[in-house]
Amino acid sequence: MPQPHPVLEVSSAADIARLLGLPFDDSDAVIEAAIAQASVPALLMSMVHMTGDLGLLDELPTPVLLIPMDLDGAMSEPDKQVVRDAALKVALDYRDRGCPPPWLPDRAALRRMLDVLTVGAVAEEYTDYVAADLRLTDADQDGPALTSTAAQRADFPVVVIGGGEAGIVAGIRLKRAGIPFVIVDRQSGLGGTWAANRYPGCRVDITNQYYTYSFEPTDHWTHHYAEQSEILAYLNDVADRYGLREHLRLETEVTTATWDEDSASWAVETIGAQGNRTVLAARAVICAVGQFGNPIIPDIPGAADFAGPSFHTADWPDEIDLTGKRIAVIGAGASGFQLVPAIAERAGHVEVYQRTPQWFAPNINYHQPIGDGARWATRHLPFYGRWLRLLSWWPLADGGAETARQDPDWDDGGLSCGPANRAFRDLLVAWIQAFTSDEELLAKVVPQYPPMGKRLLQDDGTWLRTLARDDVTLITDPIAEIDATGVRTADGVHRAADVLIWATGFDVNHQLGPITVRGRGGRDLAEAWGDSPYAYLGVTVPEFPNLFCMYGPGTNAVNGASIIYNSECQARYALGCIDMLLASGARALTPRADVCADYTRTNQELLRTQVYTHPKIVNSYFRNSTGEVPTLYGGRLSDYWARTSRPDPADYDFG
Ligand code: NAP
Repeated sequence: MPQPHPVLEVSSAADIARLLGLPFDDSDAVIEAAIAQASVPALLMSMVHMTGDLGLLDELPTPVLLIPMDLDGAMSEPDKQVVRDAALKVALDYRDRGCPPPWLPDRAALRRMLDVLTVGAVAEEYTDYVAADLRLTDADQDGPALTSTAAQRADFPVVVIGGGEAGIVAGIRLKRAGIPFVIVDRQSGLGGTWAANRYPGCRVDITNQYYTYSFEPTDHWTHHYAEQSEILAYLNDVADRYGLREHLRLETEVTTATWDEDSASWAVETIGAQGNRTVLAARAVICAVGQFGNPIIPDIPGAADFAGPSFHTADWPDEIDLTGKRIAVIGAGASGFQLVPAIAERAGHVEVYQRTPQWFAPNINYHQPIGDGARWATRHLPFYGRWLRLLSWWPLADGGAETARQDPDWDDGGLSCGPANRAFRDLLVAWIQAFTSDEELLAKVVPQYPPMGKRLLQDDGTWLRTLARDDVTLITDPIAEIDATGVRTADGVHRAADVLIWATGFDVNHQLGPITVRGRGGRDLAEAWGDSPYAYLGVTVPEFPNLFCMYGPGTNAVNGASIIYNSECQARYALGCIDMLLASGARALTPRADVCADYTRTNQELLRTQVYTHPKIVNSYFRNSTGEVPTLYGGRLSDYWARTSRPDPADYDFG
């Protein structure tokens, strides 16, 4: 690893200060109040940056254990107080010295800091990866310096399909590279899935410290897990700050993208809300439609006969009034789990039709606001926000890999898939039992498959408190049919409903939806993919020149990743490919078929050793018709970060 140094070459000093800690001259009282709310381990690290004194890590109490969702390293209250008292003195002195540039560790010092903060959890091999996210090296999400000329880039128009978080970061990267582009989106605004999913209760379930662009500070958030409206506002705010507005074509649907070999360009056909058709010429297409753009409404007999309002959670009618209504919610996955508690109070009665119970993790912060003091600390104390982010993401990301591993010698009847997974299961069951001892309810809500096999949900007790209400019923008998007035289950019981809500998820294995993409020789991408989509690193596809997917097949790290982090990796990689292409003088690039096949095969082999393919997990949105999980990523995120840091020309055919 090169000697750590800040990323001043790629951003302005003001941007860096915004990211790493804005100078402050606040009163003693403000600083004291902030320190009282701050995460103590992150505070400890910031003290080292403020003083340059690594000895503080020997003198003061340090974290004991890194636990998911705990931002205090399992430290005792007296120990935390000792650190807070010392931190106050350091912060006041730092202020009085005029907030000089923070001290930066060399590699040995960084190792010491990592060992203390994570209690040894971040091993040596992860140092570069973590240092980049801490912004201690220039090997960050920005990628290597471009090698093509500005004139080459200015003559390389790109169409980005989709204006969600992925399309936004693609736009930011293209703009900075001086590449002309338009972002086309069928919705009336930016935000993608966060614009479409407006159902009550919708919020992120990855901590916002991680669900944030790495080049933006982490103090944006009023809650640890922000609601949909706040995330949508954030995405719009970022898009404005980076000047994307002028590049947007909204209420415009891409129907077809066709590669033309002679001109080495794509013809992207669109249709506007008024039926107006256009054709955009592009040298490259970035397909940022995501995996959650195509809602599924299952084919249940009689569903079309239902007389009342009937809609998917991703198609929420803003005008709907649920007050006093009898509501049938079909599905208890991530969306249903958030929706039902949010509507129970105002509805007359909610019936939740659950086919498979889903695991949920204890998370007392799930609905909690972030105090003003904690936000002040994130905004001002040098590097505090970066270390807080690490505390938030590490236990979820590569730190959680062992829990997801299938041990071939493990057999407890399929309840778990290995010792770590079993221990996790026991913890989750204990959490559920803390809220109910009702055996009938327990039988319905405790899953009989290993945890993490489907996406783990977040819970602070809200779900079981909601199910315990008299006006909420959890129904586990299979649905037999729907008629004009309600839902009939297989046991013959008919339950009347005024409103039918489908919380039934998305068709992730066919992410292109209605878009036709034709590559070399007119090859149709949806046909080529069929039920088993593939792409090299989830980004590039053989036979489809200058096409770059974001959140493509083989990229969904179900339980650990922030999709924003992954999108940054993919945007960096796509830009690297474009730069490599232009610098080579060639007109088009495609990944070698053998390289792509090897990536796909290796990834699927890894996934076969993990919980996602466990035989007890029959229904999950990422399984395809043959039981494979083509959209998932089974490797380490650190490897994905490294492999997407820059393209290897040996992986590509140029033409
Ligand atoms: P989902 O997790 O796929 O859940 C769909 C639900 O519908 C499941 O309970 C499923 O049951 C049920 N279902 C499907 N077909 C059915 C049928 N024919 N009969 C009865 N039930 C049926 O979809 P989702 O809840 O929309 O979440 C999808 C993904 O979106 C999540 O994993 C997550 O990545 C993302 N998401 C994130 C957030 C967040 O960050 N807060 C919120 C919502 C969604 P089975 O389990 O038996 O298949």
